[in-house]
Amino acid sequence: MASPNTMSQDEAFVTLATNDVYAKGALVLAESLKRHGTTKDLIVMTTPQISHSVRSALECVFDVVKLVNVLDSKDEAHLTLMKRPELGVTFTKLHCWTLTEYRKCVFMDADMLALQNVDELFEREELSASRDSGWPDIFNSGLFVFKPSLETFSKILGLAEDEGSFDGGDQGLLNSYFSDWSTDISRHLPFLYNLHITASYTYMPAFKKFGQETKVVHFLGAVKPWHYSYDKSASAVTQTDGPCNQGNHHFPQFLIEWWSIYEEKCQRYFSSEPELVSENSSACVISHDLHANDGLQVEEIATNLTKDALQERWEHKNRWESGNVDYRGDDKFENIQAVLDTYL
Ligand code: UDP
Ligand code: MN
Repeated sequence: MASPNTMSQDEAFVTLATNDVYAKGALVLAESLKRHGTTKDLIVMTTPQISHSVRSALECVFDVVKLVNVLDSKDEAHLTLMKRPELGVTFTKLHCWTLTEYRKCVFMDADMLALQNVDELFEREELSASRDSGWPDIFNSGLFVFKPSLETFSKILGLAEDEGSFDGGDQGLLNSYFSDWSTDISRHLPFLYNLHITASYTYMPAFKKFGQETKVVHFLGAVKPWHYSYDKSASAVTQTDGPCNQGNHHFPQFLIEWWSIYEEKCQRYFSSEPELVSENSSACVISHDLHANDGLQVEEIATNLTKDALQERWEHKNRWESGNVDYRGDDKFENIQAVLDTYL
């Protein structure tokens, strides 16, 4: 764990990135909080799956990079019902309660972007959060105010073991644990602290009236900002990757904001030539082009692979991440062991 900077204090924003793709989101989120002058520490929790170079990038931007192990809800039936089988991994979020060096924290998903300073959130009590637009009697777990505590951590895990999660993800579990949230209005945050991007087209008149006051936008759902490409000169975004988008982004300004921060502040960590991105930190000497190959390890790109071979690696990675594991072929134990050996 990198040590907190000298301005360290007892309040922090916390996010989670278990792979190189979500790490892009985490970097943009952190830069957006800095751009709006946060005085709080920035913490990212990561898992060993993250590549060395991306971890170095996180260390340049965050005050603390905390390595945690993957907690998985193992509840595929519910997640399949929700058509998001990958979200079991969001249980890993629960590790945020172990950050007991901090008195109070605000967790934010890596697919969020701050559009204003939101440090006032630290005046709120555990557990404060905004309503979920799909079922407003529960809160959306993309952003919540909490108080780190090992006791709370173990009680939440205990509940997970005893009852599981009603939606298979962290949101169902946290809503069961903090079930009094629904009746305690003092802990309801305004929707503008967690504006679901879908609201821009499902309730367009409200979005037109209030949208410009948005404090934090949440790119919730299967299509994320990194699935788009950005044409700076035309100030336009186009979806180029990821699952087919169910809704259209009639208001692309949030995506454009995300991309302009990515290009200005984060792309250099993924640029094609090895680059010294910070004069002061040797930890910041990285990296090769991950941009066109989200999540591929730097080492793989550096080895002159053909485009087809890179494509196959990329598809393989996607199959692996969606749980489609070929235990007898590419993913047999000997191959996994060989990859692990490269890290030792
Ligand atoms: N996350 C992650 N790796 C994954 C999936 C999720 O690190 O493979 C983290 C990340 O911080 C993400 C959060 O868990 O923002 C919740 O997932 P997501 O935002 O995709 O869910 P949604 O908000 O779309 O329901
Ligand atoms: Mn999210």
